[in-house]
Amino acid sequence: MVDQKIPKATAKRLPLYYRHLNSMQQQGKQRISSKELSDAVKVDSATIRKDFSYFGELGRKGYGYDIEHLIYVFRKVLDQDEIAHVALVGVGNLGTALLNYNFIKNNNTKIEIAFDTNDDKIGTTIGGVPIYSVNDLEKELSRTNINVAILTVPMHAAEEVTERLVETGIEGILNFTPARLSVPDDVRVRHIDLSVELQSLIYFLKNEQ
Ligand code: ATP
Repeated sequence: MVDQKIPKATAKRLPLYYRHLNSMQQQGKQRISSKELSDAVKVDSATIRKDFSYFGELGRKGYGYDIEHLIYVFRKVLDQDEIAHVALVGVGNLGTALLNYNFIKNNNTKIEIAFDTNDDKIGTTIGGVPIYSVNDLEKELSRTNINVAILTVPMHAAEEVTERLVETGIEGILNFTPARLSVPDDVRVRHIDLSVELQSLIYFLKNEQ
């Protein structure tokens, strides 16, 4: 878990830094200035320096930051070594795309199992992920250590599926449906409404002109 003392905004930027530092290391770079990182991740360098300061004196003037050290520190904070076990419910267009995508560039996250109501899909695999009947949700999830679920069912099914996921002890839900989900306090929900995101982008584009 992220250290309680780290501000939420900083914690939110860590995965972004982590990803870029990793790709820079893969390109053979050993150190980086806050300015260079700033250009790459589009966060201003003062914010980067402030963010990094929560992890101790990691940089030196005129030298920059040691990439390997930063990755080591951030990995510990992000618990990158701990794999998230993910299920997906609703293998429609979006669900299918996510199964095929399956976060392969992010080697600590993987969708391991999927559920649907459609007999044509049940018993098949997509992107190597087996699809089970949603009737077997409790049975299948109880024999795995899945703690996160992605919800790509139609809106009308969202609430019921969520209740069942919560019953099985799911800790986090990534909700792609437009439904507002009510869950107990100890379950985290991230709501991603693609049409709202698109609308808001279009709104900003129009108003900037
Ligand atoms: P998308 O919204 O992803 O583009 P779609 O338009 O192909 O999908 P939807 O009607 O949104 O289809 O349904 C998404 C998937 O959810 C379908 O494969 C459907 O069979 C499945 N589904 C519907 N109800 C349930 C349910 N209660 N539990 C699990 N899966 C369900």
